Amino acid sequence: MDFVNCPRCGKLFHRTSSSICPPCVKDEEKIFDKVRDFVKENPDKSVKEVAEECEVTVKRIMQYVKDGRIQAGVGMKGEFTCSQCGKPIITGRMCEKCILETNFQVGEMKKQADIRNRGQIFTMRKKDR
Ligand SMILES: [Zn+2]
Ligand SMILES: [Zn+2]
Repeated sequence: MDFVNCPRCGKLFHRTSSSICPPCVKDEEKIFDKVRDFVKENPDKSVKEVAEECEVTVKRIMQYVKDGRIQAGVGMKGEFTCSQCGKPIITGRMCEKCILETNFQVGEMKKQADIRNRGQIFTMRKKDR
């Protein structure tokens, strides 16, 4: 059996896929639900106000938004910016345009790899005609 100390509460627990113990996972979920509902109902609150109301750290709320788990309300406008172009965003790490561009680049790279792989098949088909 693989027991580890929970980094959150310090208790020993049997290691699962999660890095914290099951009661802490439940706790974390409760906190997340609270923050998410609060932001939904009070979109005009700033990150600091939400942190105070929900008794969590500002860092935690920033993390929720960056992970794309919650959308920032109008009160948080400007708190979050795209990691690529610096434009204000409400959730995630990049703005829609940069996400599209990144996806496009990945797609293009895949396409080129596909073309390289299929190159032989294409030339064979051409000869058939
Ligand atoms: Zn714990
Ligand atoms: Zn961007």
